[in-house]
Amino acid sequence: MAGNSKLATIGVDLGGTKIEMALVDAVGRILASHRQLTNPEKGPDAVVADIVTCVEICLGKAGKMAQGLGIGVAGQLDRTGTLRLSPNLPGWRNVPLKVKLEDALGMPVVINNDVRAAAWGEWRHGAGQGVDDMVCLFVGTGIGGGVISGGRLLDGCGNTAGELGHMTIIVDGRHCHCPNRGCLEAYAGGWAIAERAQEAVRTDPQDGQRLNALAGDIQRISAVTVTQACSEGDPLACRLVGETARYLAAGVVGIVNAFNPCLLVLGGGVIQGRPEYVSEVERVVRKSALQTAVEGLRIVVAALGDKAGVIGAAALARDRIEKAA
Ligand SMILES: [Zn+2]
Repeated sequence: MAGNSKLATIGVDLGGTKIEMALVDAVGRILASHRQLTNPEKGPDAVVADIVTCVEICLGKAGKMAQGLGIGVAGQLDRTGTLRLSPNLPGWRNVPLKVKLEDALGMPVVINNDVRAAAWGEWRHGAGQGVDDMVCLFVGTGIGGGVISGGRLLDGCGNTAGELGHMTIIVDGRHCHCPNRGCLEAYAGGWAIAERAQEAVRTDPQDGQRLNALAGDIQRISAVTVTQACSEGDPLACRLVGETARYLAAGVVGIVNAFNPCLLVLGGGVIQGRPEYVSEVERVVRKSALQTAVEGLRIVVAALGDKAGVIGAAALARDRIEKAA
């Protein structure tokens, strides 16, 4: 164990705007971290080179070596570590990112979807420690998740399991960013909350005065504006928040019935911005989900905040290396 406890791995959260990186130890502590802009338009090879530079900086700060690197990427990856497609990295198609990184870094690389990496982080080092059946639902700009069932992360046939934001909650409902309509994300994702709020203000400018004033312009009304206006007691904002809680609850009822987790972890910017959603969702779930599905269920807020991605990616790398040893 002495050897293992010294084993540090690097976790990377690769998004469209930022490369977030941390060197993480065996118990999930961040030893050093670094971040820089992604510049995806320069292409994958330039970004891989930037990641190598970030690794050197990060290891330099900690004065340590790393045994491997885990990376969570906002996009769809196949089982070989090829990035098929990413809405946040425009123009990147079928990029063999794992191979490119291993060649450039000379260390083992484990690659996964960014949201599933974050779920892994919550499971290994956050709110889900010690639980074998857990679902993480991250409600940020979009909505995604990760399902741990029987102590395993659910991958799915094509390695895309966990897209919990794209379950239909309203047939023929609002347009989503996916091919479908009426998805959970199309109502309760940050972008959708902003859209719903902007529509409500356009429909009723009188009632929308506070939201409009806070944002400065209808088009700049965001999910954050809605949360803030509701906390000040603005009736329209509070109506929107109440509706969002009901949409979230509708999704969570489906998740709980489908997966029967012991623990449901709610995280992401929308939840962090208004943690009251957790108890509001729980109240509906206890009433509406199958009795057998809720008997052993706990619903909690995520523990790692915006560090779940890097901590989870590092833990994925560690777990893979230790399994191989
Ligand atoms: Zn969708």
